[in-house]
Amino acid sequence: MQLAQRLNRITESQTIRMTKLGRELKAKGIDVIDLSIGEPDFDTPAPIKEAAKKALDEGYTHYPPVPGYPELRKAIAEKLKKENHWEVSPEQIVVSNGAKQAIANVMLSLLDPGDEVIIPTPYWVSYADITKLAEGTPVFIHCGFEQQYKLRPEQLEKAITAKTKAIIYSSPSNPTGALYSKEELAALAEVLRHHPQVFIISDEIYEYINYVGKHESITQFQDLIPRIIVINGFSKGFAMTGWRLGYSVSPLPIAKACDTIQGQFTSGANAFAQRGALFALESNRDACQHMVNAFRERRDFLVKALQSIPGLRFHVPEGAFYLFPEVKSYFGKSDGQQVIQNADDLAMYLLNNAYVSTVTGSAFGEPDCIRLSYANSLDKLQQAVERIQKALKALH
Ligand code: PMP
Ligand code: GLU
Repeated sequence: MQLAQRLNRITESQTIRMTKLGRELKAKGIDVIDLSIGEPDFDTPAPIKEAAKKALDEGYTHYPPVPGYPELRKAIAEKLKKENHWEVSPEQIVVSNGAKQAIANVMLSLLDPGDEVIIPTPYWVSYADITKLAEGTPVFIHCGFEQQYKLRPEQLEKAITAKTKAIIYSSPSNPTGALYSKEELAALAEVLRHHPQVFIISDEIYEYINYVGKHESITQFQDLIPRIIVINGFSKGFAMTGWRLGYSVSPLPIAKACDTIQGQFTSGANAFAQRGALFALESNRDACQHMVNAFRERRDFLVKALQSIPGLRFHVPEGAFYLFPEVKSYFGKSDGQQVIQNADDLAMYLLNNAYVSTVTGSAFGEPDCIRLSYANSLDKLQQAVERIQKALKALH
C-alpha cells in the first residue's frame, strides 16, 4: 500500500514501543518490571477524579470551546502569575490533548518546509518527529556527559542560521533529569537576544518534579517573552497521564494559530477531564509534594544501587523521574548467545533476559545510554536492580 511520504520521515515512538513489548510479555504471563514509559505509578488523586465525575453529572458532556474552558484558561493564567511570576492573558493559553499535542500545535503553527528547529541532545523522544511531521528540519546539538547533557551558549551560537525558527528543550529534562540553573539559562538567553527570529519552546512538564526546590524558567528573562512558548500539562505533576491534558502558553498570534489548527484536528480537549484539571489547579499541591517525596526516595535508592554496578556512568538526576546511565562499556560483550552491539541491543537484552523494560538512548539521540524510569515502587525498583545486575554480570 502506498502511504504518504511523511511516514518515511518518522518512526514509532520508542517509549511507547518498549512499553508495548513489555505489555506483550506480561500478557504471556511473564513478570515484567516496567521502567520504560515515563508515567507516575500513582493514581490520580481521588478529589480530582471526583471533580471529573461530578462534571459528567453536571452535563459536561458536550463539545468544549476549542482552546479550553475559560475557567480553566483563567486558572492556568493565575497559576502562572502566582507560581511563575509571569503575567499572561488567558487568550494566550490553549488547552490540548496532552502536552504532546500542544507541542504539535506550536510546531505546525510556526514551521514552513525547511525551517530549522534546534534540538539539544539528549532530547525528549517526540521533538524530532513532531518537527519532521510539521516539515521542519531538526538540527541536533550533541551535549555529552561531560557537560551534564546540557546545551552551552557557544554551541547554541554556532548552530543558529538564517533558517533557525525555534529551539526546543525540556527542563527538568526527559531523559537525563538535568535542570538548567538560572545562570545557565541567562547565558543561553544572552545568545538568543542576538537572534530575534528564534522562538524558544520551553517544555516545563516536569516543573513540579524537581529535587532542588526551585524551578528556573527562561520566562524570567522578560525581554525574551515575546518569543517564548511554554509547554506544560497535567500528566506528570498531577499523575493524570491518561486524561490527556496539556497546554501551551504563547504570544497571542501563535495561540490563535494553535486554536485554529486544534479546531480542525480535535475540536479541543475532553470536556469533563478539563473540569478535573481545573479542580487540580485550584487545590493545594500536597498530593504533588507527596509524589515528589516518593520519587526522591526512589531516585536516591536507584542512584546508590546503580553506582554499585560496574561500567555504568551517570549524573544524579535533579528533576523528572528518569536515570540515564551510559552503558557503552557493555558494547561488544556477549552472554554466549548474542553480542550486545549498542544500546538498542542492551535494552532488548534486559527486556528478554532480565524482564525489565527500559528505553534505548538512541530514541533520545544519545546512543551510548539507556533510560530507566523510576516512577515505580521501591519494591519493584529493588527487584529490577537485582535482575539488571545479574543480566549485566552475565556479559563478558
Ligand atoms: N514533554 C515531555 C518532556 C514529556 O516527557 C512528555 C511525556 N509525558 C510530554 C511532553 C507529553 O506529555 P503529555 O502526556 O501531556 O502528552
Ligand atoms: N513522555 C513519556 C515518556 O517519555 C510518555 C511516553 C510518550 O509520551 O512518549 O516515556
